[in-house]
Amino acid sequence: MALINENYLKLKAGYLFPEIGRRVKAYSDAHPGQRIIRLGIGDVTLPLPKSIVNAMKSAADDMGTSSGFHGYGPEQGYDFLVNKIVENDFQARGIQISADEVFVSDGSKCDSGNIQEIFAIDSKIAVTDPVYPVYVDTNVMAGRTGEAGSDGRYQNIIYMPCTAENNFQPELPKERPDIIYLCYPNNPTGMVASKEKLTEWVTYAKKNQSIIFFDAAYEAFIQDESVPRSIYEIPGAREVAIEFRSFSKTAGFTGIRCAYIVIPKELKGKTTQGEEVSFHSLWNRRHTTKFNGVSYVTQKAAEACYLPEGKKEIQESIAYYMKNASLIKKGLDEAGYKTYGGTNAPYIWLKTPEGKTSWEFFDFLLREAQIVGTPGSGFGPSGEGYFRLSAFGKREDVEEAILRIKKLS
Ligand SMILES: *Cc1c(COP(=O)(O)O)cnc(C)c1O
Repeated sequence: MALINENYLKLKAGYLFPEIGRRVKAYSDAHPGQRIIRLGIGDVTLPLPKSIVNAMKSAADDMGTSSGFHGYGPEQGYDFLVNKIVENDFQARGIQISADEVFVSDGSKCDSGNIQEIFAIDSKIAVTDPVYPVYVDTNVMAGRTGEAGSDGRYQNIIYMPCTAENNFQPELPKERPDIIYLCYPNNPTGMVASKEKLTEWVTYAKKNQSIIFFDAAYEAFIQDESVPRSIYEIPGAREVAIEFRSFSKTAGFTGIRCAYIVIPKELKGKTTQGEEVSFHSLWNRRHTTKFNGVSYVTQKAAEACYLPEGKKEIQESIAYYMKNASLIKKGLDEAGYKTYGGTNAPYIWLKTPEGKTSWEFFDFLLREAQIVGTPGSGFGPSGEGYFRLSAFGKREDVEEAILRIKKLS
């Protein structure tokens, strides 16, 4: 028999969302007719903007003509999209990124999971706790960690706790990591990193010769103009950081699939012999070998996000979600909860009342108010005692949920 990759056996079962589903089903089976409001989702709910739908339709029509047919495209993405990305997401903010430093892909989940392939297997990684599980699990699969302990933490990973005590800003690690995963605006805490904080990270990475993986999937939700949208707004970041961007949350592309990664050419690693190699060239090799490009229709849809009508429609969707976020936050604050995030991100992170565990609060909210959220402990041990509510729901549901929560207290 063929041997398996035993690293996969170290993975803890994908427990969080199946367990939520199980508890919700058990409750609704026992209480038919009660309306359950789901504020646990990390998925957008508004339909795609019209101008994006039209761009897809017209791209589909192109594909049916001999002059407009597109077969394999450039693996890195079509110029029409990459140039728009560079102009709008970077140059417009005074950031210098060149078109060949952008690699278009089918999602940031894949990108943030795949990127570790071009790093040595004994690279030490640092992650925040709580964290987006993809960063950790993909390193477990690769064999970069030991077993998980009873506290849910894997050996050989540096965990950086983010709690109310440090205002959800991780301390710079004492032990030197090769790779630091940062996600801002943060999923799950909804918190952002200031320019000063990101500058500390870039300085730290330079000094320690670490590389930062910066996941900016939620940058479009930033309302405060002083908060950086890209790590490249920080001087020197080109030498230490890779950035992940996605159209998923920004433009409702979770079901369409389009994202991109930026790898500046200055970003270098070394061989065991001490020879310097650019990560850009390694990723280009990896991407062109293992990926055959995002579909023409999808890239046309992504391009439409940068056209005037698309920009306007996307802003309207974001404003809708951020209004939800502010209603949830205000409602919770008025009901006496301690809340975090929700002003520059579509997530509200709350401290569970009366010392309840995350799961106890989940059951309480489901039973007493028929509201489903996400237990913070599902994102890591430091998430225990916290709870995530998402602003991606419908306005009526958000308003009803707030009324129900206020009645509880
Ligand atoms: C939703 C999300 C993404 C986007 O993933 P896609 O694969 O592009 O849909 C990336 N990072 C985080 C932290 C997310 O929550």
